[in-house]
Amino acid sequence: MAPIPHLSVSISSLFLLLLTACTNGFSEEKNLLHSEILKDEAVARLFELGKVSDSKDFLERTFQSAASVRAGNLIRRWMEDAGLQTWVDQMGNVHGRHEGLNPREKALLIGSHLDTVIDAGMFDGALGIITALSALKVLKIRGMLGSLKRPVEVIAFSDEEGVRFQSTFLGSAVIAGVLPVSTLHVHDKSGVTVQGALRRNAIDISEDNLLQLKYDPESVYGYVEVHIEQGPVLENVGLPLGLVKGIAGQTRLKVTVKGTQGHAGTVPMKMRRDPMSGAAGLIVLLESLCNEPESYLSYDSQCAASTAQSLAGSLVCTVGEISTWPSASNVTFTVDIRAMDDLGREAVIYEFSSRIHQICDKRSLLCLIERKHDADAVACDAELSSMLKSAAYAAVRPLGGDEPDNLPVLMSGAGHDAMAMSHLTKVAMLFVRCRGGVSHSPAEHVLDDDVWAAGMALLAFLESLV
Ligand SMILES: [Zn+2]
Repeated sequence: MAPIPHLSVSISSLFLLLLTACTNGFSEEKNLLHSEILKDEAVARLFELGKVSDSKDFLERTFQSAASVRAGNLIRRWMEDAGLQTWVDQMGNVHGRHEGLNPREKALLIGSHLDTVIDAGMFDGALGIITALSALKVLKIRGMLGSLKRPVEVIAFSDEEGVRFQSTFLGSAVIAGVLPVSTLHVHDKSGVTVQGALRRNAIDISEDNLLQLKYDPESVYGYVEVHIEQGPVLENVGLPLGLVKGIAGQTRLKVTVKGTQGHAGTVPMKMRRDPMSGAAGLIVLLESLCNEPESYLSYDSQCAASTAQSLAGSLVCTVGEISTWPSASNVTFTVDIRAMDDLGREAVIYEFSSRIHQICDKRSLLCLIERKHDADAVACDAELSSMLKSAAYAAVRPLGGDEPDNLPVLMSGAGHDAMAMSHLTKVAMLFVRCRGGVSHSPAEHVLDDDVWAAGMALLAFLESLV
């Protein structure tokens, strides 16, 4: 995305500007900013939650761990402080809800996850929960919660990172009704099942009541999530917030290259069938293909012009793990391919696979490609996104002049709870700038003023429901 030069004013100067305006007599406007809740208290809570860990040396909260339960209790207290009715469901999700004017209206759900990776940062997941609660607390203080046209429910999902059970979205998938009941019997490294982990915390779940946790789509208006960007684009353009247009689809492949273990000294070069150099060639090919898909794919037959455009802007391919076992005759590597366009992703997989076979034939190697995981891309809802965009723009308005279109629109390469929730309802997401695009690390950082901007955006969004 091209930088927007005239938007390079820092967010700190924006707030200074606004606060100066306030002290000049706009006391009403100062109240509207609510920095003590949307910034000071929200940041303090992020730090407090960031200390709730299973390890004393780093941040770690996995599904139903002791720290995870403590974090849930803390969040529940903050939900009550925001004027919400709270409960914990049988997958350990923490809910806080206000019925607003009409409990029978479809509810707006806002959420993110309370679990973390190992040696995590304190903003991933937590930011989305805490900014939602701050915005609702401001509405409560203003006496506006009861005027909400529809119920609003904040959900702190119990598992998104999938660290303990190598799972995909235990918390949100159960609400969306897309979690297979067999997941209850998946076990962690120490042999404890998902069901067992919940039972240890006095949560009784069976295959039957798991299905009952699914929300009725007719009772839900939409789902909104605020999350750190986990990438460098917003920092690059110098803006705190960006709208998410969608979450990339993903395919994981496992490629096995089988050769022959030739003696390092006695088998001549022309007769060698070394899988290592074959695998290296395939990995370089993948990078080249995904750098310039237009040079490899025939768009006439394989995909349309819009696909080519989408691939150019969103295709990311990486190799995660490489292993050689047994010994040097066998190399396996994993491939992760993500793109907004599902057809385009398929075209890339097709092209990569056929070239793998050509290269392997030429080298007399045996190559095997296994598809390990597929998830289709999720497009954010146009109407909900437009509301969120107006709200975000209202929060950063003085930076953007009179051009609301200047709010960056980004693709999410990472999966989020919104991905699971898209099976239940329309979704929209807002990204918040994080330092260096770093996430899943203690170095993860969001400026206090950006926490404030996110809170103001959610507040403006909620105000549109009043
Ligand atoms: Zn996250």
